[in-house]
Amino acid sequence: MANDYYMKDTSNDRQAECEWMIRTQIMSRDITNEAVINSMLSVPRHKFVMEDKQELAYYDTALEIEEEQTISQPYIVALMAQALELKANDKVLEIGTGSGYSAAILSRMARKVITIERHDLLAELAKERFRSQGYNNIDVLVGDGTLGWSEKAPFDAILVTAGGPKIPIPLIEQLALGGRLVIPVGDQGEQHLLRVKKTIDGELIEDNLGAVRFVPLIGTKGWNQDDVGNFS
Ligand code: SAM
Repeated sequence: MANDYYMKDTSNDRQAECEWMIRTQIMSRDITNEAVINSMLSVPRHKFVMEDKQELAYYDTALEIEEEQTISQPYIVALMAQALELKANDKVLEIGTGSGYSAAILSRMARKVITIERHDLLAELAKERFRSQGYNNIDVLVGDGTLGWSEKAPFDAILVTAGGPKIPIPLIEQLALGGRLVIPVGDQGEQHLLRVKKTIDGELIEDNLGAVRFVPLIGTKGWNQDDVGNFS
């Protein structure tokens, strides 16, 4: 095509931007897990956002995606991935596929990722990104992730990437012995990122990883659709 001659090849720039992101936003903070850092270096974040947002893909910020949802800030993705303490053979459940970026990050660190999204369009776009970029250990399901996916349980790790009023009980039930669950819990203005570990005896140990702000987790065990936006 005639226009190709004038088009700038940005692929090297994007890799340099990705490396800059890792240096200035990830390693300079408290992310030390090598698998997380390597995974973030290998996943091109700009390919998970709309074309007019690609320039901003490696900035220290969340970005708007389709259906008025967001792709989380890179540091928060790294913090959650590190908190999951993944092992290479783990099976992971993610609630809130969104752009597919965090599922892609997890897929480079674990054996299998199953990700659930409530919006058809986002699920379809993410599936296409996984297919075209060769992520072949991710299954995308459309549905209410607050109920988990009992047919595929138990999960070694569960990540919820939307903020709920409480921890959905089905997710605790579907967590394997020795498993880790990471979820933002709070009101719709602000949440705390909680990690729950289920010991091999079935005991639950919770810790708080700090304040975060996510879009709402909407579903049977989350917020009601009608209440969304009505909270301060
Ligand atoms: N992980 C995403 C990424 O990397 O782009 C970010 C996801 S965005 C912060 C949260 C997502 O959770 C939205 O796409 C939203 O539609 C989805 N969501 C909210 N409630 C849900 C539910 N009950 N089940 C599945 N997805 C849900």
